[in-house]
Amino acid sequence: MALQYRAAVLHAAGTPMSIETVTAAALKPTDVLVRIRAAGLCHTDLEVIEGSLRYPLPIVLGHEAAGVVEEVGAAARGVKQGDHVVLSWNPHCGHCFYCDRDSPILCEQYLGEGPKALPFDGEARNHLADGRPLQQLMFLGSFGEYCIVSDQQAIPVPKQIPFDRACLIGCGGDDRCRGRAQSGRDRARR
Ligand SMILES: [Zn+2]
Ligand SMILES: [Zn+2]
Repeated sequence: MALQYRAAVLHAAGTPMSIETVTAAALKPTDVLVRIRAAGLCHTDLEVIEGSLRYPLPIVLGHEAAGVVEEVGAAARGVKQGDHVVLSWNPHCGHCFYCDRDSPILCEQYLGEGPKALPFDGEARNHLADGRPLQQLMFLGSFGEYCIVSDQQAIPVPKQIPFDRACLIGCGGDDRCRGRAQSGRDRARR
Protein backbone atom coordinates (compact mmCIF):
# COMPACT_ATOMS: atom_id res chain seq x y z
CA MET A 1 0.00 0.00 0.00
CA ALA A 2 1.24 3.45 -0.87
CA LEU A 3 2.68 5.54 1.94
CA GLN A 4 0.38 8.28 3.16
CA TYR A 5 1.48 11.12 5.39
CA ARG A 6 0.59 14.64 6.43
CA ALA A 7 2.05 17.66 4.67
CA ALA A 8 1.42 21.41 4.66
CA VAL A 9 -0.03 22.27 1.26
CA LEU A 10 -0.22 25.76 -0.25
CA HIS A 11 -3.17 25.99 -2.64
CA ALA A 12 -3.13 29.74 -3.31
CA ALA A 13 -0.79 32.63 -2.54
CA GLY A 14 -1.92 34.76 0.36
CA THR A 15 -3.84 31.93 2.03
CA PRO A 16 -2.78 29.70 4.92
CA MET A 17 -1.17 26.35 4.18
CA SER A 18 -3.45 23.44 5.05
CA ILE A 19 -2.37 20.20 6.71
CA GLU A 20 -3.51 17.36 4.47
CA THR A 21 -2.94 13.68 4.00
CA VAL A 22 -0.97 13.12 0.82
CA THR A 23 0.07 9.95 -0.97
CA ALA A 24 3.69 9.24 -1.86
CA ALA A 25 4.63 7.75 -5.22
CA ALA A 26 6.63 4.53 -5.36
CA LEU A 27 10.36 5.21 -5.12
CA LYS A 28 12.27 5.48 -8.41
CA PRO A 29 15.64 3.67 -8.50
CA THR A 30 17.69 6.67 -7.31
CA ASP A 31 15.05 8.08 -4.94
CA VAL A 32 15.43 8.28 -1.18
CA LEU A 33 12.56 8.46 1.30
CA VAL A 34 13.41 10.68 4.26
CA ARG A 35 11.38 11.02 7.44
CA ILE A 36 11.61 14.72 8.22
CA ARG A 37 12.64 15.50 11.79
CA ALA A 38 13.17 19.27 11.52
CA ALA A 39 12.58 21.90 8.86
CA GLY A 40 13.25 25.63 8.84
CA LEU A 41 11.08 28.34 7.32
CA CYS A 42 13.27 30.33 4.94
CA HIS A 43 12.41 33.68 3.45
CA THR A 44 12.00 32.04 0.05
CA ASP A 45 9.16 29.91 1.46
CA LEU A 46 7.59 33.06 2.84
CA GLU A 47 7.77 34.80 -0.52
CA VAL A 48 5.90 31.94 -2.18
CA ILE A 49 3.26 32.09 0.58
CA GLU A 50 2.90 35.85 0.09
CA GLY A 51 2.93 35.59 -3.69
CA SER A 52 5.97 37.71 -4.53
CA LEU A 53 7.78 34.60 -5.76
CA ARG A 54 5.59 32.51 -8.02
CA TYR A 55 5.59 28.76 -8.39
CA PRO A 56 3.02 26.33 -9.77
CA LEU A 57 0.40 25.34 -7.19
CA PRO A 58 -0.58 23.34 -5.22
CA ILE A 59 2.85 22.97 -3.69
CA VAL A 60 4.59 21.67 -0.59
CA LEU A 61 7.10 24.28 0.56
CA GLY A 62 10.13 23.82 2.78
CA HIS A 63 13.68 23.53 1.51
CA GLU A 64 15.93 23.34 4.58
CA ALA A 65 15.43 20.13 6.48
CA ALA A 66 17.06 17.21 8.22
CA GLY A 67 15.77 13.73 8.91
CA VAL A 68 16.33 10.00 8.84
CA VAL A 69 16.51 7.82 5.73
CA GLU A 70 13.62 5.37 5.82
CA GLU A 71 14.06 3.68 2.47
CA VAL A 72 16.33 3.90 -0.56
CA GLY A 73 15.67 3.04 -4.20
CA ALA A 74 17.41 0.04 -5.77
CA ALA A 75 20.10 2.20 -7.42
CA ALA A 76 20.48 4.93 -4.78
CA ARG A 77 24.09 5.59 -3.82
CA GLY A 78 25.93 7.29 -0.98
CA VAL A 79 23.17 6.91 1.58
CA LYS A 80 21.51 4.04 3.44
CA GLN A 81 18.53 3.32 5.64
CA GLY A 82 18.96 4.83 9.11
CA ASP A 83 21.39 7.58 8.03
CA HIS A 84 20.78 11.03 9.43
CA VAL A 85 20.76 13.42 6.49
CA VAL A 86 20.64 17.09 5.64
CA LEU A 87 18.68 17.78 2.47
CA SER A 88 20.12 19.77 -0.42
CA TRP A 89 17.99 21.79 -2.83
CA ASN A 90 20.64 21.53 -5.53
CA PRO A 91 20.29 18.30 -7.53
CA HIS A 92 22.49 18.49 -10.61
CA CYS A 93 23.00 16.53 -13.81
CA GLY A 94 26.72 15.95 -13.30
CA HIS A 95 27.68 16.34 -16.96
CA CYS A 96 26.74 19.81 -18.27
CA PHE A 97 29.21 22.67 -18.88
CA TYR A 98 28.88 23.91 -15.29
CA CYS A 99 28.80 20.52 -13.56
CA ASP A 100 32.01 19.66 -15.41
CA ARG A 101 33.55 22.74 -13.80
CA ASP A 102 32.41 21.89 -10.25
CA SER A 103 29.66 24.52 -10.26
CA PRO A 104 26.48 22.48 -9.72
CA ILE A 105 24.70 25.62 -8.52
CA LEU A 106 24.74 26.71 -12.19
CA CYS A 107 23.78 23.25 -13.56
CA GLU A 108 21.74 23.79 -16.71
CA GLN A 109 19.18 21.15 -15.77
CA TYR A 110 18.90 22.43 -12.19
CA LEU A 111 18.26 26.00 -13.35
CA GLY A 112 15.99 24.92 -16.19
CA GLU A 113 13.79 22.59 -14.15
CA GLY A 114 13.66 24.65 -10.95
CA PRO A 115 10.62 26.80 -11.87
CA LYS A 116 8.53 23.63 -12.47
CA ALA A 117 8.99 22.56 -8.84
CA LEU A 118 9.12 18.90 -9.79
CA PRO A 119 11.97 16.36 -9.84
CA PHE A 120 14.20 16.33 -12.95
CA ASP A 121 12.07 13.59 -14.54
CA GLY A 122 8.98 15.81 -14.27
CA GLU A 123 7.02 13.28 -12.22
CA ALA A 124 5.44 14.38 -8.94
CA ARG A 125 6.44 12.28 -5.93
CA ASN A 126 3.31 13.23 -3.95
CA HIS A 127 -0.37 13.51 -4.76
CA LEU A 128 -3.34 15.08 -3.04
CA ALA A 129 -6.23 12.93 -1.86
CA ASP A 130 -8.11 13.77 -5.08
CA GLY A 131 -5.19 12.52 -7.17
CA ARG A 132 -3.81 15.88 -8.28
CA PRO A 133 0.00 16.04 -8.39
CA LEU A 134 1.80 18.18 -5.83
CA GLN A 135 4.72 20.40 -6.68
CA GLN A 136 7.79 20.36 -4.42
CA LEU A 137 9.58 23.65 -3.79
CA MET A 138 13.23 23.59 -4.82
CA PHE A 139 13.17 19.81 -5.50
CA LEU A 140 12.33 19.19 -1.82
CA GLY A 141 9.02 20.14 -0.21
CA SER A 142 10.06 19.38 3.34
CA PHE A 143 6.98 20.69 5.18
CA GLY A 144 5.71 17.17 5.58
CA GLU A 145 6.30 14.08 7.65
CA TYR A 146 8.24 12.59 4.74
CA CYS A 147 10.03 13.85 1.65
CA ILE A 148 11.19 11.94 -1.43
CA VAL A 149 14.44 13.27 -2.88
CA SER A 150 17.15 12.05 -5.24
CA ASP A 151 20.12 10.30 -3.60
CA GLN A 152 22.42 13.25 -4.35
CA GLN A 153 20.16 15.50 -2.25
CA ALA A 154 20.44 13.42 0.92
CA ILE A 155 23.74 14.23 2.62
CA PRO A 156 24.66 12.00 5.60
CA VAL A 157 25.73 13.89 8.72
CA PRO A 158 26.97 12.69 12.14
CA LYS A 159 24.15 11.39 14.32
CA GLN A 160 25.12 13.56 17.28
CA ILE A 161 24.11 16.77 15.46
CA PRO A 162 20.59 17.73 16.66
CA PHE A 163 18.09 17.78 13.78
CA ASP A 164 16.99 21.34 14.52
CA ARG A 165 20.57 22.58 13.99
CA ALA A 166 21.40 20.24 11.12
CA CYS A 167 18.41 21.39 9.07
CA LEU A 168 19.74 24.94 8.94
CA ILE A 169 22.82 23.81 7.03
CA GLY A 170 20.52 23.05 4.10
CA CYS A 171 19.82 26.70 3.35
CA GLY A 172 20.08 29.11 6.29
CA GLY A 173 23.83 28.54 6.43
CA ASP A 174 24.09 29.13 2.71
CA ASP A 175 23.55 32.63 1.37
CA ARG A 176 22.80 31.52 -2.18
CA CYS A 177 19.11 31.26 -1.30
CA ARG A 178 19.25 34.74 0.19
CA GLY A 179 20.36 35.96 -3.23
CA ARG A 180 17.40 34.16 -4.77
CA ALA A 181 15.04 35.66 -2.19
CA GLN A 182 16.49 39.08 -2.86
CA SER A 183 15.82 38.80 -6.58
CA GLY A 184 12.25 37.72 -5.76
CA ARG A 185 11.77 40.85 -3.66
CA ASP A 186 13.22 42.97 -6.45
CA ARG A 187 10.71 41.45 -8.85
CA ALA A 188 7.89 42.19 -6.42
CA ARG A 189 8.91 45.84 -6.21
CA ARG A 190 8.84 46.37 -9.96
ZN1 LIG B 1 24.64 19.97 -14.77
ZN1 LIG C 1 16.22 29.18 1.59
